[in-house]
Amino acid sequence: MVGIYCKNHHGTSNDELCSKCQQIKKYALLRLDKCPFQDKKSTCAKCTIQCYKPDMKQQIHIIMRYSGTRLLLHHPRIALHHLWDKHRKAPILDKGYSILL
Ligand SMILES: [Zn+2]
Repeated sequence: MVGIYCKNHHGTSNDELCSKCQQIKKYALLRLDKCPFQDKKSTCAKCTIQCYKPDMKQQIHIIMRYSGTRLLLHHPRIALHHLWDKHRKAPILDKGYSILL
């Protein structure tokens, strides 16, 4: 997702990311890694935790919105799968589970 955005906005080639986008991707993956929902999770927009830092969240939101429409054109199957994911109910975090943000 970040790759599509970076390629069209920062002029990088296919598999490369500029340092800024690399950071964003790294951050997103890190957060995903720490997400307690994992497979059960819906998309992060609906997540009950909202674990991104506000500025990162905004960046990622912009990228996702941009890439989402592009993805629909180039990889409809993946995009539809993601769309379907979005309509799943966001899971509720068990009480007693604490997450270190
Ligand atoms: Zn970039």
